[in-house]
Amino acid sequence: MKNPKPKEWTAEKWSQGYIADYKPFMFVDGEGVRCSIYVSGCLFACEGCFNKAIQNFKYGTPFTQELEDQIFADLRHDSVQGLTLLGGEPFLNTQVCLKLVNRFRDEFGKSKDIWSWSGYTFEELLLETEDKLELLSQIDVLVDGRFELAKRDLTLQFRGSSNQRIIDVKQSLDKGKVVIWEKCIDKDRA
Ligand code: SF4
Repeated sequence: MKNPKPKEWTAEKWSQGYIADYKPFMFVDGEGVRCSIYVSGCLFACEGCFNKAIQNFKYGTPFTQELEDQIFADLRHDSVQGLTLLGGEPFLNTQVCLKLVNRFRDEFGKSKDIWSWSGYTFEELLLETEDKLELLSQIDVLVDGRFELAKRDLTLQFRGSSNQRIIDVKQSLDKGKVVIWEKCIDKDRA
């Protein structure tokens, strides 16, 4: 597993604007019914990564305007609670993710929500590049941290290992320290 120094890895250098997958109407990538986009490329190289192929920044297909429009058509369904960004590493694909979250806020405001998974911890992201901070500021709930094989626990809500946390981003930014999402059912193990 790799541990970058602050600002060592940038989306500008690494992102190829590729998408590994898009899954509308998912029930497992956060609260409620969600549209999930999996961006390609990740540098953390966690042992036991759920999908090593997705670490390649050119895995899958280029993100297109057509796909973006499809995602927004799906998001407009009343039953959909929000958008989920997964990877790969969303914060090393900010060109794609910022385009999505900015349009999302223009169209839905706070009436729907945004979740993201990241290999970066919340504290690491606070020391990161402007684009990463901008993306963080648009996210409602962040599931943070590398996947640690020695801490793997498949019973955890929305997480693969016990070091990862489900974070209420707005409250955490306001308070300057991590606030766990209030509906986390296993807070004591976070
Ligand atoms: S952060 Fe996620 S995608 Fe990246 S290597 Fe780790 S498990 Fe794989």
